[in-house]
Order: sequence, then C-alpha cells, then structure tokens
Amino acid sequence: MGIQELLYIPVKAIQEKLSFVETDPLPWKSFALAVSWTVALFELYLLSRQYKYYSKQAPPAALKEYVPLDKFQKSQAYGKDKAQLSFFKTIYSQIWDTAFLYYGGYAICWSAGGQVIAMMGYGPEYQILQSIAFSMVFAFITSMSGLPISIYSTFVLEEKHGFNKTTPSLFVTDMLKGWALGFALGAPFLSVFLYIFNWAGDHFVPWLIGFILAFQILMVFLYPTVIQPLFNKLTPLPAGELRNRIEALASSLKFPLKHLYEIDGSKRSSHSNAYFFGLPWSKHIVVYDTLIKNAKVDGVEAVLAHELGHWFYYHPTQLMLLAQIHTIGMLACFPAFLHSTPLLLSFDFPSSVAIHPPVIIAFILYQTVLSPVDTFVNFGMHAISRKFEFQADRFACELHSRYKVPGTQGLGKRLGEALISIMVDNLATLWTDPWYSAWHHTHPTLTERLKALERYEADANKSVPKKEL
Ligand SMILES: [Zn+2]
Repeated sequence: MGIQELLYIPVKAIQEKLSFVETDPLPWKSFALAVSWTVALFELYLLSRQYKYYSKQAPPAALKEYVPLDKFQKSQAYGKDKAQLSFFKTIYSQIWDTAFLYYGGYAICWSAGGQVIAMMGYGPEYQILQSIAFSMVFAFITSMSGLPISIYSTFVLEEKHGFNKTTPSLFVTDMLKGWALGFALGAPFLSVFLYIFNWAGDHFVPWLIGFILAFQILMVFLYPTVIQPLFNKLTPLPAGELRNRIEALASSLKFPLKHLYEIDGSKRSSHSNAYFFGLPWSKHIVVYDTLIKNAKVDGVEAVLAHELGHWFYYHPTQLMLLAQIHTIGMLACFPAFLHSTPLLLSFDFPSSVAIHPPVIIAFILYQTVLSPVDTFVNFGMHAISRKFEFQADRFACELHSRYKVPGTQGLGKRLGEALISIMVDNLATLWTDPWYSAWHHTHPTLTERLKALERYEADANKSVPKKEL
C-alpha cells in the first residue's frame, strides 16, 4: 500500500458517512439562507448592544486621567458613525447575498464565464479556463456590490473624522492594482488547484494540502518583497536612537533581525501599527510612520517589545498551524460534496452542469453550506488571538525581571501609555460591549489590557530578586 492510499483511508471513512450528500436532494439553498440570516440578525443584535455605549458621556474610570474629554467626545462620534454604517452594511449585504442565492447567482456567473471563453473560441470542455472566467465574473460582481459602501466609508466617514488620506485617483489605482494582483496570483493558483483534482482524482486531499502549504510559504516571500511595495513604500529606518534601541532589544532576545523598515502607512490613513514577518532565521520589522510620529521612542520600543512577544511564543506559527488543521478538516469532508448533483441542483444549476459538477462550483457551494462551521471557527480564533495579545503584553512586562534585558524597566507602563496614545489618536472606541467584543475583536479592549498590564507589572516586580540592595 502506497502512502497516498494510506492517507486516503480516513478520508474514505468520512466520505462513507457523508455519502447521503451525493444522493439525497436536500434543501441546501434554504439551509444556507437560514444560516446567513441567523448570523446577520445576531450581528445586528450585537451591534445594537454596542451602539448604546456611544451615548456615554465620560470615558471609563480607568482611562479618565489619560483621555481628554474632547478626544473622548470625538471618539464617541466616530464610533457612532461607524456603527451606523455597520448597521446599513450588514443589512445591505444580507439583502444582496440573499438575492444572489435566491436568483441562482452562482449558476448565472458560471454561464457568464462560459460565454466569456466562448468569445475566445473555447468550449465548456476547457473547465479550468471556464473556472478562471467564472471566478473573474464573480469577483467583479462582488467587488462592485461592495464599492458604494467602500467609497462612502473612505471619502465621507473617514474624511469627516480626519483619517482619510486617500485621493480618488489613489483609490482607483489601488482597486485596479488589487484586481491585477488578484488575477496574477489567483489564476495560476486556481489552475494548479483544479489540475490537482483532475490528476489525483478522489485522492486529492494530501496533494492539495501540500500545495496550499507551499503557496502560503511562497506568499511569505512574495508579500513583503513584491506585493506590499505595490501599495506602500518601505524605507530602512534611519539611523538614530529609535533604530539603536530596537536593534539592541532584538539582539538581546536573539531575534534574527535582518531589516528594519519604516512604512508610509500615512499615505492612505492615519491609523498606526507595527509588525514583523519573514523566515525563522531572517526576520524583518516594519514600523508605521504614524506610530513613530504619535508615540515617543519609549513607546515605539514598548510596542515592539509586545510584537517580539508574539515571536517569542511562536504565535504566528501556532495560528498558521491552526489554520492548517482547519483546512485539512475542511478538505477531508469535501470529497462527499465533489460529485453531488443534488447540491448543484438546489443552487439552481441546470442539470446539464449538475450531472458532472465542476470542481470550483462544488467547492464554492460546499463553502457556502459550511459557513456555520466557519462562524464558530472564527469565534474561536478571535478568542485565541486575544489570549495571545495578553501573553505578548505579559512578555513585555517581564523583559526586565525575567529575561534581564537592559533598559527595559517599566516597559509595561510605557506600553500602556503607548496603547492609550495610539487609541486616542485613532479615536478608538473606549466603551465596548463584552458580547460584541468577544464576537468581533482580535484584541482585548484598552481597559482590559491596561488592567492586565498593571497586574503583570506588579507580578514581575514581585519576582525580582533584590540582590543589588
Ligand atoms: Zn499583538
């Protein structure tokens, strides 16, 4: 027995359990609609819970001394406007999605894709080509449907609150670049993806997982070197105190810092951040110019200490592994849906197409009916991500006492101050409904983080052996 057959055994067991999918005419479309309405109504409910907080007249007690009242009022007004847009957006996209599913949008896009390749002289036997054309039609329609809200959000809402730095021409070039990029990456990815199905038949699972993993690793190279420079300018961080401090911090933690960049995030918006990327032995740190401008050297150093905490605890690797497990689980159940004629019929495909489901269609419909699982996975991932944020904050607090990194005294306090100044500058929401936050947020709220930072700092000081006295 070859390795391929061995790996196929569990997949086959799952497929047998799910064999009803291939034969029974189940109301898949009604199921997908019911799920999407349930989620949308729940999210509207959460939004209504959060909305009440925008009427509060004063910041939370823990923040009172740091946040000037005028800044607080501005953040409340900004939050209220964003929440109103969210209400509208949720309802708008729900109606759009419903109409799309109800009128057989996928079937219409598939036949439109067929017409596009027919104009180029290819017939439906060129399934990969039709799949690429279908994806382009679908992506175009989806992006057009979201365009009015995206324009309103950038040029009305963000503009009103002083965040928008995007010009209409930059907005259009960004969109065109995005499409070109989507095609340049998407078309080859989709071709290989579909080719694997043709070539490996129902034994596609391990091959596909290998391919997706390889693609993700390729993106680790391509994103910073090719993709990000299309939209932003990265320049080496100039020599000076900030550079010295970051380099010293990185080297004392044995962080394999290769390049240190400043990015012109302010070209589009004034929201600020910092992050790192790269391979295990060669990492790059990117700091937003807005962060450098808003936080002092002490603050930027503290924010980077937090980022290095993510590296120290292998957070990105863990998240990637979890994503892999999710992908494997999803792909392992897919064979049952791959040949499901009833699935396609329920989404209004003509029986001529449904009798031999095109892989891309079966895959997209499978994703559509799988959305409840994804909803829970997202919820879990947000919880894990918030846990990681606390862990990285704790790491920053312990740098001095536990890891004996010179010059890191009081880092927790500095981090807290930097977080406050970032939040205030970004007019971030200061009052958050716990349910809303648990559902949507990848980061703990500012008050939660400040409270935790205080505790971590106290713990760290307690454990310091006071031998120098
Ligand atoms: Zn973080």
